[in-house]
Amino acid sequence: MKIKYLSLLLIFLMLFSFSLSTGYAREKTLNELEAEAKANREAYNKAKNEKELTEAERDKAVAQKAEVEKEISSIETQLTSIETQIGEIEKDIDAKDAQMKDIMSFVQVTNGESNYLEYIFGATDFTDFIYRISVAEQLGDYNENLIEEYNKDVERLDKKQSELNAKQEELNKKQSELTVLEAQLNKEIETLQSGMVSKDQAYQTQIKLIQSMKARGCSGNDTVTSCQNKNSGSLVSVNGTYMPISSGYVTSDYGWRDYGGGEYHTGIDFSKSVVGDPVYPIADGEVILLVYNRTCGNHIVYVKHNIAGHSYVTSYWHLSSWSVSVGQRVSYTTKIGSMAGRNTGDACSGGVHVHLNLFDNANNKWENNVARGGNPNSNRINPRDVVPQTPKKGGHFSHR
Ligand SMILES: [Zn+2]
Repeated sequence: MKIKYLSLLLIFLMLFSFSLSTGYAREKTLNELEAEAKANREAYNKAKNEKELTEAERDKAVAQKAEVEKEISSIETQLTSIETQIGEIEKDIDAKDAQMKDIMSFVQVTNGESNYLEYIFGATDFTDFIYRISVAEQLGDYNENLIEEYNKDVERLDKKQSELNAKQEELNKKQSELTVLEAQLNKEIETLQSGMVSKDQAYQTQIKLIQSMKARGCSGNDTVTSCQNKNSGSLVSVNGTYMPISSGYVTSDYGWRDYGGGEYHTGIDFSKSVVGDPVYPIADGEVILLVYNRTCGNHIVYVKHNIAGHSYVTSYWHLSSWSVSVGQRVSYTTKIGSMAGRNTGDACSGGVHVHLNLFDNANNKWENNVARGGNPNSNRINPRDVVPQTPKKGGHFSHR
């Protein structure tokens, strides 16, 4: 039971921290973002240093292992040589077996007192007697020396062999210790590497955000939202407005459609029946949102304007592609996309045209709504409010 409650608590804590990171908490200021980016950079550098040190340690272990392996192979060579030497001595012993047997039979002769005396006294004369005594003594000494020498050699080689075996065992142990250490260090390096990647990604994202906030002239106490709002004031007020295409005619007006169904048309449609004609903003401004809606609208561009000191947002629908990016300052001559229509699979376009919407953004109300996750298409007003020269439905215009 206790474990169950503990896991529930953990899940709750995880959800709580997740909600903190997804924006329920107070928005961070530019200063706080900079401090975070700095901390991420420092954590990255620290991990990088640690990784370099660990790599040096790993390389050292690898070099030590190679050294140990070299020693092991040298010991193996020495052991092989000792085995060969012992084999040779054994061969010598075999070869001298017959001689040994002779000596042994003589020893037997000399050991039996009567036989010894028999041999000595078997002398034919005094000279022979002296010779027989000296031969008996020399053979005895030779026998003793030979056995002693062989024994010493074998003993020496046996000692060397067991020394080398002990050394080999020690080195094998060291080798496996170094193998374990190497694997452990490689694992540490891997962990540090993945830590570096995540810190670097966080840093790169924060730096981009900081740079774009600074580029907008925002201060350290600004948040992303306040910075975005502040920017609307920095758009230079313009007075002139233009048609969204260079020439053409109006195919549908704002308001209740004058044919069946009673559909309310939320914007004004401009057409020329030419696929690919450039689409322009109705005034200077800044691209603030790009939306792709495959089933209705296809590529859509939202532009913010300061028209005669009042903040507006316009949107342009049914484009085949975008020619601009968010944050880009545009003039009324900047191509923002190309006119398309039903041919792009746009189910809510009956033909080649651009649909223009207008939104009131006084006190940044459109932007604040979108920043809170609201629908960017709500609260549309008549585009004719800012583009009064727009002809009525069916009316042509031959220049912007
Ligand atoms: Zn329309």
